[in-house]
Amino acid sequence: MDSSEDPIIGLTLEGVITDWNPAAQRLYGYSCEEALGASIAMLVPPELRGSTNLLARVGAGEVLRQVDTQRMAKDGERIDVSISMSPIRDERHAIVGAAAFTRDNRVHKQTEAMLERQRRQLAEAQSVGGFGSWEWDMGADTVEWSEQLCRIYGLEPGRHPVTFEGCLQRIHPDDRARVQADAEAAYARGTPFSLEHRIVRPDGGVRTLHARGEVATGEHGTALRMLGTGQDITERREIERAKDEFTSVVSHELRTPLTSIRGSLGLLESGVLGELPERGRRMVRIAAENSDRLVRLINDILDIERIGSGKIDMQPQRCDAAELVERALESVGQIAAQAQVSVSADTQPVTLGADPDRVLQTLTNLLSNALKFSPAGTAVLVCSGRRGGEVLFQVSDEGRGIPADKLDSIFQRFQQVDASDSREMGGTGLGLAICRAIVEQHGGRIWAESELGKGSTFSFTLPALVEREPAPAPTTADGAPAVVVCEDERARVPA
Ligand code: ADP
Repeated sequence: MDSSEDPIIGLTLEGVITDWNPAAQRLYGYSCEEALGASIAMLVPPELRGSTNLLARVGAGEVLRQVDTQRMAKDGERIDVSISMSPIRDERHAIVGAAAFTRDNRVHKQTEAMLERQRRQLAEAQSVGGFGSWEWDMGADTVEWSEQLCRIYGLEPGRHPVTFEGCLQRIHPDDRARVQADAEAAYARGTPFSLEHRIVRPDGGVRTLHARGEVATGEHGTALRMLGTGQDITERREIERAKDEFTSVVSHELRTPLTSIRGSLGLLESGVLGELPERGRRMVRIAAENSDRLVRLINDILDIERIGSGKIDMQPQRCDAAELVERALESVGQIAAQAQVSVSADTQPVTLGADPDRVLQTLTNLLSNALKFSPAGTAVLVCSGRRGGEVLFQVSDEGRGIPADKLDSIFQRFQQVDASDSREMGGTGLGLAICRAIVEQHGGRIWAESELGKGSTFSFTLPALVEREPAPAPTTADGAPAVVVCEDERARVPA
């Protein structure tokens, strides 16, 4: 009784207090001396007296469990309590008294009110932000969705799938395998995931969602649950698509007159229309250089829009990684010589299933960046080799490096580490965004690592191909072997 956190009071059937523990003293304010021998009626607020006689019920043999009522402290304060009472019997089993266990409900009620307030706030925030939340208990394979997530999926609040498999069934069939693979990989690695996918509502409507998730680990580091959010980004994507399309149309319309301006400037510069005075030639040169830059920018804008929207059909073919690296090195040979930077390759013969022109474009882009940001006398290295079911390409330089907080953002359109980069280095800030679009269209990944002042390494992966034993080898119409078998079905290579 002494160590109990809750008040315990012993009573005779007449209501005389026979036991009074320290917790009772703390709650009601009466000392042991004051309470023992006094009537329990002193704890009942006057307005409740006579309405319920709990003691009489216990006297009749009833066991009371958690009866919510009010009691009154010595200073008159009304206290919300929950009382449990059981009879005390003598050795002949006759009821001679009662033991009352009391719980202070004020904290409980405050906690309940606070929880309810937080639940409402969370629901309102989700509704305003257009996102919902989910929680997946992996051990029990049960999934819980918030009301807002149900609404995004076009379901009645509370009526959501309750297993992971059930959730997958709501995802667009074309995106299902990717979502499953990403969630399982995040679970296996214990890392967060973030991906876009489509869902199908019961009425057939398709929405685009941005899903984020994170593994919550238990005490021993074991993955127990995954929590996350789903945000409806259908309208945002629609607006972006319209914006990209507009940019594309405008750029396309600009390209034709610009090409003719560039052509005319070229003619003027060459002197076939007559020699220009020195100042005139300088002006024409500046105009020609700037129209070259504009043409590059417009081509990049058109490229990124067409690759990003899937308008450019990637033509995955069987190609050799080392050969592509070799060709990329040749194409930047002159720039490297001018920059006095040595370029070398370390390659393994690996076959990949990708569009060779686009891989070359990616490699050349990374190489020109590496050269652009390398001081004279330093080296640039290109590596390629197999890593699991993928081919890994890496371009490393010993240049100025990239700050850690820019390593992700430089892959977004028009993002540069320094605003002066476009002016001084002649870039558009679109090169890496194009590289990312190309690599992702092939089902690969691209990322950068760097140490400021020491250099940077840009890496990307593409699906590798394996050639199985030709038994018997099928041949194409012209008799050439056609045994290219794709290990990774993302690179659809015609056999
Ligand atoms: P651009 O080179 O045309 O400006 P990119 O998208 O190719 O556009 O590159 C974006 C920015 O990333 C560059 O402007 C530069 O600030 C940074 N960057 C890219 N590659 C490197 C590199 N190898 N070393 C240092 N910074 C780099």
